Amino acid sequence: MRPVRGRFAPSPTGDMHVGNASSALLAWLSVRARSGVMVMRMEDLDLPRVRPGSAQRILEDLRWLGLDWDEGPVSQSDRFSRYDAAFQKLKRAGRVYPCFCSRKDVAAAASAPQEPGDETRYPGTCRDLPPGQAKIRTANGDRHVWRFRVEAPCAPPFQDLVHGQQGGPGTSPPGDFIVRRFDGTPSYHLAVTVDDMEMGISEVVRGDDLLPSAARQILLFQALEGEPPVYGHVPLILGPDGVRLSKRHRGVTVRELRASGWTAGQLAGELLELLGQRGPGEHCGLEGVLNRFDLRTVKACPEGIFWIN
Ligand code: GLU
Repeated sequence: MRPVRGRFAPSPTGDMHVGNASSALLAWLSVRARSGVMVMRMEDLDLPRVRPGSAQRILEDLRWLGLDWDEGPVSQSDRFSRYDAAFQKLKRAGRVYPCFCSRKDVAAAASAPQEPGDETRYPGTCRDLPPGQAKIRTANGDRHVWRFRVEAPCAPPFQDLVHGQQGGPGTSPPGDFIVRRFDGTPSYHLAVTVDDMEMGISEVVRGDDLLPSAARQILLFQALEGEPPVYGHVPLILGPDGVRLSKRHRGVTVRELRASGWTAGQLAGELLELLGQRGPGEHCGLEGVLNRFDLRTVKACPEGIFWIN
């Protein structure tokens, strides 16, 4: 049996809202219920979107809520050499190719089906460029990204702890996706896979918006000869407008709730109730549900769950 190791992986692009808190709470419960190890990783690769001070505020908010960790924080921005090493390995194995298409080119060529999650599916324009031509263009400094060549006949099968069986025969594989961006930085998929692999993460619990990412990350795990974690994608929390919570919504960050008088116990309790982990009128907090917690009892709710106020 693999040791239980989970992770928090916040992006320090603003204050944590109750949707982030809900995913973090479930990730923590699932690991702690089995006395596993929790790793804290700051996903600060998207430098233009990173806000100064945000990482510290997120750590404080998580602690306030009663969620702790054993290792880290580790910052992705300190790990560029690890992502580069993985990229070179993929390159040596012929699993990536340079792609000279702009985002506009991809959108224009894509009368092709969309990827789940509304991403434009890459139509494969640069997949089979003659190798000589690709070499000359990269040597000339033509702007390019690097894409992972998806060779699988279907999406990789896996058992999501919340959504059940995913992928497998009859499903379509993801399109070739970016692992290195125009500026040479690693893509989200590459960085997350390298990190989860090197940190020995056995279980990834995160929001439903990332369910379509799991297939790509599993393919990268296979190409890098690592063991993928078990995934559990949990319901997103919706604002009063029915749109999933984001930094745009007001009054729903952990800080705002705290400032308006909410206690950590109230917030954890409310989230547990929304997620079907605590009966109405039941008064236990995090510690109370810990000994009976099993992520598989969280109901899949792809349309999301409304926040109460
Ligand atoms: N950093 C991502 C986020 O905050 C999570 C990535 C992941 O869990 O794989 O949405």
